[in-house]
Amino acid sequence: MSFVDTHAHLNDEQLIDNVDEIMQRCAEADVESVICIGIDIQSSQTAVDIAGKHPHVYAAVGIQPNYVSQVPENAIETIRQMAAHPKVVAIGETGLDRYWDYAPFDQQQIFFRQHIELSIDLNLPFVVHMRDCAEDVVELLWEYQSQFPLRGVMHSYTGDWDQAQKCIDAGLHISFAGMVTYKKSDDLRAVAANVPVDRILIETDSPYLSPHPHRGKRPNEPAMVIHTAACLAELHGMSVDEFGAQTTANAKTLFEIK
Ligand SMILES: [Zn+2]
Repeated sequence: MSFVDTHAHLNDEQLIDNVDEIMQRCAEADVESVICIGIDIQSSQTAVDIAGKHPHVYAAVGIQPNYVSQVPENAIETIRQMAAHPKVVAIGETGLDRYWDYAPFDQQQIFFRQHIELSIDLNLPFVVHMRDCAEDVVELLWEYQSQFPLRGVMHSYTGDWDQAQKCIDAGLHISFAGMVTYKKSDDLRAVAANVPVDRILIETDSPYLSPHPHRGKRPNEPAMVIHTAACLAELHGMSVDEFGAQTTANAKTLFEIK
């Protein structure tokens, strides 16, 4: 068996002191790789540092939309420099968020564009956070998609099928986190059942959103990704082994990890 947790915040204060133990539990659960995601300059640098120390951890560097008003003006240049590290496999997380009101939306859009352009420039995939703004995200993706082939992932996807399909058509993968395992998530499971298996990824978004049956237990951690895998495997009529192998292959192709 093998699984890849494509989105974890090992750099979060709830996890960072226990990365050795967390990676040990990953090994026991056949979670062979973890992608550690940055949300601002400092957490991106920490993601790179963790990836530098742990052979099975890779890093994504970027400014999450809720933090774009708190970083220096030249932040994207700093991100570009960090991305030169050999363990950096993606740009992000980036995206748009209308749920929280931490940063002006037009500023979020400027940063989202900068991240996509950096991704194209460096030939690295990008990681998209989307909350209450699917139309805006899809519109922007399609603007770029008409000029460049896009490589990226809609992370912790909770939107509807119509929007998922537009993201898939734009070239993106769709990643599901623990939410898809929750009792009330029938709509999201119906979306997940429609996504072609070669475009699905799995993630924990740890330390948040522990999957069923560990819901409410904090912090979540990468080894828990197997519960999300089991739920999605059933939806696709696959064994957990087959589904793990398929999504691991998807992750390795998209992020070019070994
Ligand atoms: Zn995240």
